[in-house]
Amino acid sequence: MVRTSYEYTQTLMGTTVSLTLLEPNKAAAHAVFETIKMLEDKLTVNRSLSEVMAINLAAGQYPVTVSHSVFSLIEQAQKVSLHFNSCFNFAIGPLVKLWKIGFQDYQVPSNKLIKQQLLLTDPKNIVLNAKTHSVFLKKSGMEIDLGAIAKGYIADVVKLILQQYQVYQGIINLGGNVLTLGKSSLNEDGYWHVGLRKPFSTKNKLSGIIKVINKSVVTSGIYERFFIQNSHLYHHIFNPKTGYPLDNELESVTIISDSSLEGDIYSTVFYGWGLDKSREYLQKHQNLSAIFLLKNKTIILINTDNFIFQQLDTQYTISTDYN
Ligand code: ADP
Ligand code: MG
Repeated sequence: MVRTSYEYTQTLMGTTVSLTLLEPNKAAAHAVFETIKMLEDKLTVNRSLSEVMAINLAAGQYPVTVSHSVFSLIEQAQKVSLHFNSCFNFAIGPLVKLWKIGFQDYQVPSNKLIKQQLLLTDPKNIVLNAKTHSVFLKKSGMEIDLGAIAKGYIADVVKLILQQYQVYQGIINLGGNVLTLGKSSLNEDGYWHVGLRKPFSTKNKLSGIIKVINKSVVTSGIYERFFIQNSHLYHHIFNPKTGYPLDNELESVTIISDSSLEGDIYSTVFYGWGLDKSREYLQKHQNLSAIFLLKNKTIILINTDNFIFQQLDTQYTISTDYN
């Protein structure tokens, strides 16, 4: 049993990224952080020089050829946006920019402005050309936003980088996206212990601990980025039909899956579907597990073969009725 771990951290993607390994490996850690920086530079919409921004800046004008990896991520984002019958929409950019949730100058926009921006969020107006790897936004003002899946994609690439360095055990935390590799020798039980934040707790309290081996754990919650105005909470996941933040019974959705991209996609898709529809889907997809935290302080665990949940906060009640 190894009891020591080696932690490497950097501030990237607006969050603290930490990599925990069981043996020291500066070279692997360096490669991981450089890769994250490189991918962030390609995917961000908060800086003008990224590949995604190049697409957005050419909206209504011309197609932009992007790298293979960015193209394949955009292809997947479009597939989910068009064929899942969910609220997931990677053309949501104009609304994200309008609300500015998570930034200092956030605002509740006028209904008129929301309606205007909604006209620019149809994913069918994004034309992909697989031969040239080019992406064209048909209308001026359209914007791709990969905020819901970029971290998941990056986490999966980090796993590949670590494997190239013969690192098969470890845990990477990209803030909300945690990916575990292999077994943990840090805990007697062999599981990696991933904290699940208690929604809205100011002191980073935990609702519980999710124990996994070789899985990704991704959480999307309304408490991550939000503001309150006239007693109404506005958070950062939008309903692409109304242009307002999604409003349902959920406080957070956690997905336990093999890949982090999958976890990121489903955490947003399930958040939009709400509990009942997500549960039906999960019953048919047992390899995917989920933890739902409800506003009525219930915790719902589904497909519990892939993880163990240890409750820490007694304000919530665990329900397994849904299994
Ligand atoms: P994070 O883990 O960074 O909080 P999430 O995975 O929960 O992010 O996704 C939220 C982000 O996804 C938003 O900040 C925005 O960039 C983008 N987004 C918001 N609404 C939608 C939507 N309906 N479909 C796809 N992406 C969205
Ligand atoms: Mg997500």
